[in-house]
Amino acid sequence: MPNIDLHCHSNISDGVLSPGELVLRAAGNGVDILALTDHDDCDGLTEARRAARSSGIRLLNGVEISVTWRGRTLHIVGIEIDPENPDLVQGLESIRKGRAERARLIAEGLSRAGISGSLEGAYAFAANKNLIGRTHFARYLVEKGYAKDVQGVFRKYLVSGKPGYVAHQWAELGEAVGWIRKSGGLAVIAHPGRYELSAGALNALLSEFREAGGIGLEVVTASHTLDVAMRFCELARRFDLFASLGSDFHSPQESRMDVGKLPPLPSGCRPILEALH
Ligand code: AMP
Ligand code: MN
Ligand code: MN
Ligand code: MN
Repeated sequence: MPNIDLHCHSNISDGVLSPGELVLRAAGNGVDILALTDHDDCDGLTEARRAARSSGIRLLNGVEISVTWRGRTLHIVGIEIDPENPDLVQGLESIRKGRAERARLIAEGLSRAGISGSLEGAYAFAANKNLIGRTHFARYLVEKGYAKDVQGVFRKYLVSGKPGYVAHQWAELGEAVGWIRKSGGLAVIAHPGRYELSAGALNALLSEFREAGGIGLEVVTASHTLDVAMRFCELARRFDLFASLGSDFHSPQESRMDVGKLPPLPSGCRPILEALH
């Protein structure tokens, strides 16, 4: 079996390595097929492709789109997309604009909690000023000593109920899947184990997602234990979805799973490799 990793981040979104550095790290870890899936932005793909060519990796164009479904944030990964497709380009651009507005509100919330300078501070951690996210705020707050690591900042400041949390409306599920499909890509639900959905809501999501044209479910990813992976393997089978796998790697210091260092897919679900062009 080839070594496949279909979910990871560069500093075009909230990863810390440049796209080129990320591809070199993946190559060093033995990856054969890699999808770079930055949040809501495809700008890293050109540099990643250059690095992939010289290191012999097969690079797939990817993206991870932020979605609001029934009041919750979900992430939909697109693989083998065309980053120049106008529908996708416009959709992602509108999400990025919303991020800039949200960032101002996050900074206001933090300022009310006595933390000043966080907007400038977060932007200083964002290599791509068009794509600002909570992780950039988290890195700034760690630097300032408000928590010992990024997870600690999320817990104390950036999740629902905390001073830096801002409810936000991302893309609709059908829109995101539509952009991915129109650009020739495969839509996959990212890290389903993180959403804490009831069985009923999960079934509704999977049906709706399939109906919209989604074809895959991430089964193996850093935030899934083996038990959780087995459960989503079974659900993928039941809903006739391909099983995807990706490390969701962001940083050598912050991530639990390195790029290309994934456990295998459980047996019994259809590997997404079969759906790749
Ligand atoms: P955003 O899209 O700006 O809301 O940021 C979402 C990103 O924050 C995710 O992709 C993760 O990289 C990171 N993140 C979310 N929750 C946590 C958490 N509890 N601990 C650490 N990082 C998190
Ligand atoms: Mn992220
Ligand atoms: Mn995600
Ligand atoms: Mn991700």
